[in-house]
Amino acid sequence: MLKIGTVIYEPTIVDGFDMNVYYSKRVDGVLGKPEKAMYNDITCFVDAKAIRENPDLLAVSPNGPATRTNKKYTLPWDFVCPTNKEYRSHVLDFIKETAKTDVEGVTLNLFHFPEEGFCTCPRCQKMHKASGLDWLDWRAETVTVFLRQARKLVPQRFGIEIWPDPVLAKERFGLDFDAIADYVDFFHVPLSANNYVTLYWVDTLTQDFVKLLKKPVFIELSAEIPRPVETKAMLRAVAYLSRHNLEAILLLVHDAERAKEIARTAVNDSNYRGWLEKFGFENMNKIIDKWDSIYGK
Ligand SMILES: [Zn+2]
Repeated sequence: MLKIGTVIYEPTIVDGFDMNVYYSKRVDGVLGKPEKAMYNDITCFVDAKAIRENPDLLAVSPNGPATRTNKKYTLPWDFVCPTNKEYRSHVLDFIKETAKTDVEGVTLNLFHFPEEGFCTCPRCQKMHKASGLDWLDWRAETVTVFLRQARKLVPQRFGIEIWPDPVLAKERFGLDFDAIADYVDFFHVPLSANNYVTLYWVDTLTQDFVKLLKKPVFIELSAEIPRPVETKAMLRAVAYLSRHNLEAILLLVHDAERAKEIARTAVNDSNYRGWLEKFGFENMNKIIDKWDSIYGK
């Protein structure tokens, strides 16, 4: 059955949601405490704090380092080179500690190369040469091996967040989806946006990933949307997504209150519910019924 869940910045399980994903290691490098009964989302090779303390960690390319200020690229963060042994161990240790507690699952994000052209630091060049592999295959192998190591540490459900690029993922990030599928239980694809008033791309990318990926798919939508008209558009997007063969639809919220507000908005909107009934959104109606029993007036 399709799950509805949250991706949330506070360690709170929200009533009426089947699963909750909590960022326990964030892009700023802050380490949270592993949270029981939640999926713990661990940021791997983006770590502002570690890079501030040791700029040598940065991934590099012929066009300069993997930083936001390098305008040859449009990177949203500064990236650590994924072959740095010490840093890798630090991340794997955190994954291991997380899995030792009673978490429901572990999700890794930003566990790959920052973009095409990375990383050409002396260590990566040496490792590439020694591998005898083609450059793109070496990068993909490097990422897959890291995931295989992490997988071994996690008896719970284990998966990854991926950038929503179904075509160039290997060239850009070193993601070989088929090879990775052997080591993960799910793929988590964030389709982040300021609003979902325009929807075709959500549907297109979801279709692409469901066909392409050999493991169950979670789709994440941004739900931290202030205007009511945008919340309604987002709820329609959730309904359309509910027709695809997904394991879960996840809503990104800052806190539990926002998730509850969305559920209340949905159950109390008779237009929306009439529209769901009329067009036979069976999975979505089940979610709404569950929310209604908790949040209905
Ligand atoms: Zn490197």
